[in-house]
Amino acid sequence: MKTHLNIILASLTLCATASASAQTTSELVEAGFNNEWLTYGHDYAETRFSTMNQINDTNVSRLGVAWTFDTDSFRGLEATPLMMDGVVYATRPWSSVFAVDARTGELLWNYDPQVDKTIGWKACCDVVNRGVALYDGKVYVGALDGRLIALDAKTGQEIWSVVTVDQSRPYTITGAPRVMDGKVVIGNGGSELGVRGYVTAYDANTGEQAWRFWVVPGNPADGFENPDMEFAATTWFGNWWEVGGGGTSWDSMIYDPEARLVYVGTGNGSPWSRELRSNGMGDNLFLSSIVALDVDTGRVAWYYQTTPGDDWDYTAVQPLMLTELVINGQERKVIMQAPKNGFFYVLDRITGELLSAEPYSLVTWATGVSKETGRPIETPQARYADFISTISPGPGGAHNWHPMSYSPLTGLVYLPSQQGTRFDYTVDPNYEYKPGTWNTGTPFGSTEGITRLPQDQYAEGTGPINPTQSALLAWDPLANAPRWQIDYPTGPSGGTMATAGNLVFQGTADGHFVAYAADDGEKLWDVDLGIGVIAAPSTWELDGKQYISVLAGWGGSSALFGTNPTGKYKVEGRLWTFVLDGDRNIQPAQGIDRPELTAVPFDAAPAVQSHGADLFAQRCAMCHGRNAASGGTINDLRYAAPATFDIFQNIVREGAYTGLGMPNLGAFLTEAEADAIKQFILSRRAAVMEQQ
Ligand code: CA
Repeated sequence: MKTHLNIILASLTLCATASASAQTTSELVEAGFNNEWLTYGHDYAETRFSTMNQINDTNVSRLGVAWTFDTDSFRGLEATPLMMDGVVYATRPWSSVFAVDARTGELLWNYDPQVDKTIGWKACCDVVNRGVALYDGKVYVGALDGRLIALDAKTGQEIWSVVTVDQSRPYTITGAPRVMDGKVVIGNGGSELGVRGYVTAYDANTGEQAWRFWVVPGNPADGFENPDMEFAATTWFGNWWEVGGGGTSWDSMIYDPEARLVYVGTGNGSPWSRELRSNGMGDNLFLSSIVALDVDTGRVAWYYQTTPGDDWDYTAVQPLMLTELVINGQERKVIMQAPKNGFFYVLDRITGELLSAEPYSLVTWATGVSKETGRPIETPQARYADFISTISPGPGGAHNWHPMSYSPLTGLVYLPSQQGTRFDYTVDPNYEYKPGTWNTGTPFGSTEGITRLPQDQYAEGTGPINPTQSALLAWDPLANAPRWQIDYPTGPSGGTMATAGNLVFQGTADGHFVAYAADDGEKLWDVDLGIGVIAAPSTWELDGKQYISVLAGWGGSSALFGTNPTGKYKVEGRLWTFVLDGDRNIQPAQGIDRPELTAVPFDAAPAVQSHGADLFAQRCAMCHGRNAASGGTINDLRYAAPATFDIFQNIVREGAYTGLGMPNLGAFLTEAEADAIKQFILSRRAAVMEQQ
C-alpha cells in the first residue's frame, strides 16, 4: 500500500509541478488541469487519467446521454475532445474545428481551413485530425496541408497562420499541436511517400518560429543545420536525402516542465527498406526513436532508438506518457511507450536510460532487447534483403496512434494493442523513387502480388500467422505483463481513458462504448453507438457534474485498408457526451443503404484483370480498400452508379472529382492502365452480384 501511495503522490506532484511552473506563463494551466480537459492527453504527462470519481464503478450503469452533436462527417474521427470554460473543442476530417456549448452540445462556431481536397492522397491513413491545442484564449489546429493555424477561442476567427512545410512535397499534418513553455509545437507526416521529417516550435502568440528539430540529416553537401545532424549523418549511408529519409513525427510530443525537456516520438524510414534507403547499413538516427529536446533550443538532450536501422515501418511516434515508478526500490521518473515494434519501453526520462523493454504482442523480428546495449536482438529472418519474410508486427504495428492511459491507483497502463499483425516484407526489385506516390521500397498494397510467389522464397520459419486481432491490455509496467486483458475479434479499437472512479473507458471498432473496472477488467457498462470508435474519450466537470465525451467516427487506416466491423456503410460521425442519469434510450447510428447493383459488361481476360489488380493495389487500394472493397468510409467503387464507368477516364485521368478528394492521376496512369483498373473494379462488382 505504501508503494501505491508513493506512486499516487509522485503522480500528483507531477501535475502540481506542471501547474506551478506553467502558471507564470500559461493561462491554460491556470485554469486548472484536474477537472477540465485542456490538452490532447489531459495534462503534460499525457497519462489520460482524471482524478474525478463522481462517475465510478458503483454507479457507471446510470450513465446516459447528456447531448450529442452530429459532425456532418463520414470519415475517421480521431480527435480527443478538449473542454475549457464550458466549451468543448474538437476537430473532424480535413482539419476543420468546431466548438460546442458543453452544457447543450449547441454549435458555437465552426472553422474550416479550406484544405485543397486534391492533396488528400498525401495522407497515408485518411484525412483525419487528432485535435486542437488551447492556450491564452487561442485554439491551435494543424491543417492537413501543413499550415499551423491559431484561432480566437471565442469566435473561431483566424488570428495567425504559418505554413510549416514545403507544400510541393507530400507532407501532411494530422496530429494535435501541443503548447509548452509558450511555444506551440507541431510535427508532420509523409514518410511513406518520401519526405524529411521534423518538429517545429512557434511562439504561441505570434507564430514566429522558435526552433526546428530535424529528425534525419539532409544532404551533407548542403551543410548541417546543427551538430545533432552532423552526428546523425554518421549513421547513414548512400544518398538517403534524395527520397528524404523519413522520420516524420506525426503524433506524440510531450513535456516535462521541471526538466524543461520536450519528448518527441519519431517515425519510420523513407523508404521502408534500409537496403534501398541507406545501402543496408547504419542505425539511421533519429528514426524510430524517443528523443528528448531542450525546450529552449530544440537541441537533442538524449535519445533512445527503439528500432535501429528501421526496415519495417516501425515508427516510435506512438503515444508517450510520463509518470513515476518505484523500480528496484528506487523511485524513477519515467517515460513509457508502446511503439509499433511490439516492445513496451520504460526509460528514465531525465537520462534516457533503458529500464525495461518487453514484448506486449507477437514479435518475430527480435527475440528481446539487450539490457547491456539497449539494442534489440534481431532474428535471422528480420532483415529481408535476400528473401521474403513474414514478420510480426506488420506495418500497422502492435500499437498505433490510439491513445493509452495510465492510472496511478492501479499502476496499470491501458493499452489498445493489436495482436498478431504481420506483413510479407521483401525489397521491391523494381523500386525507383517516384514523386507523388508511395515509396516504401516494398510491395506494400500489392499483397496479392507477393502471395503468388512460391513458398520456397520465404525465409525459413516464416509463413502464415493467425489473423489480426486486437486486445485492450491492462499492462503492468513493473511486472511487464498484462494483469488483465480484453480480446477483440476485430482490428484496433479506440483510445482509452482512466479515472479515479476505478474506471477505464474505451470505444470499440464494432461500435460500442464500454467502461471496465480499472483494477480487474470487469465490464461494467456497454452501449451500442452503431459506429466504430477509434478516438479516445475525455472527461470534465461542469456545474458540479462529471461528463464523459467521445467522438465516434469510423475511418483512419483501419477503414482504408480493412473493413468495417459494424458492417455499416457511411455512418455520420457523432460527438457523444454522457452524464449520470442522462437519457438511457440510446439509438445506434445508422449507415446509408448500399445501392442495388445492375450488371456492367467488362473484359475478364486474365492478363487485363491481373494488370488491373496490380495497378489498383498500387494506386487505389490505399483509399478504396484491398480488392476494391471499401472499409465503409470512402466510396465503395464496386457499387458505383453504372454511368460512373462511362466517365472513368475523366475521373481518374482528368480530375473530374478532385473537389470530392479524388486526385487527378493523369500523370501516373496511361489511358490503357486506367482502363485495366476499371475492368478490375467491374470484375469485383460482378463478384458481389454473384454472391447476392
Ligand atoms: Ca509509417
